[in-house]
Amino acid sequence: MRISPVYKAIIMSICLYIPLQSAAWGVLGHRIVGQIADSYLSKGAKKAIAGILGNESVAMSSNWPDFIKSDPAYKYLSNWHYANIKGGLTQEQVINLLEKDTATNAYTKINWLKSELKRKEISVTDKQMYLRLLIHIVGDIHQPLHVGRLDDLGGNKIKVLWLNDPYNLHQIWDEVLIDFQQLSYTEFATAINYTTKQQRNTLQQQPMSFWFWESYQIAEQVYGDVKGTEEKLGYQYNFKYKAILEAQLLKGGVRLAGILNEIFG
Ligand SMILES: [Zn+2]
Repeated sequence: MRISPVYKAIIMSICLYIPLQSAAWGVLGHRIVGQIADSYLSKGAKKAIAGILGNESVAMSSNWPDFIKSDPAYKYLSNWHYANIKGGLTQEQVINLLEKDTATNAYTKINWLKSELKRKEISVTDKQMYLRLLIHIVGDIHQPLHVGRLDDLGGNKIKVLWLNDPYNLHQIWDEVLIDFQQLSYTEFATAINYTTKQQRNTLQQQPMSFWFWESYQIAEQVYGDVKGTEEKLGYQYNFKYKAILEAQLLKGGVRLAGILNEIFG
């Protein structure tokens, strides 16, 4: 059979397609965090955010910083999504490290974005970009492996199997565990969004370094679980981590609302 050059090119491009290393909650994870945050916004914050994002919801704006990764012009933003911390540290060590480190990472950039968004004089275009970044990165930090180790790139270099399919550990936490629940982002948010006022106050008053510490501790446990190469994960893993996954998504949403209310409320 003769294959036309165009058809050949299409087949080649499919065969050569290599997925980019993922480096964020997947599309759903960010939207779940955004949807939960939206439910706790003050009236003032809701109005101010609508003035910046227009008809784009907090949930739908959350994915922009991942979508722009395909554009080299935004490459400088790639290390805003995480903070690498070596294993085996105490709470005090982790917090000290974060507070002293001035390098570009999720911690320094969330602080920077917060202070920029509080300034009245920045342009609407900048405001839109900074807000989308802030919404996204607050979510990212609640994905435990975004406070993972540098030597394995937050689990990106750790090969595992989900049931029988090859993934890396980072992808399991970005997407696989979330997708496994078979819920849309609104269904997921509805299913887990139960908090009392007191719980929200506690979560929103905890310093940002504590969020990182929480993720770091979960990451340590997650690393400890994967001993060999191509460890097979599946139903048991889902059962073990489902509640932690849900708690992290919920905390991300509540804390994001706290920050947005502080800036815009
Ligand atoms: Zn990200």
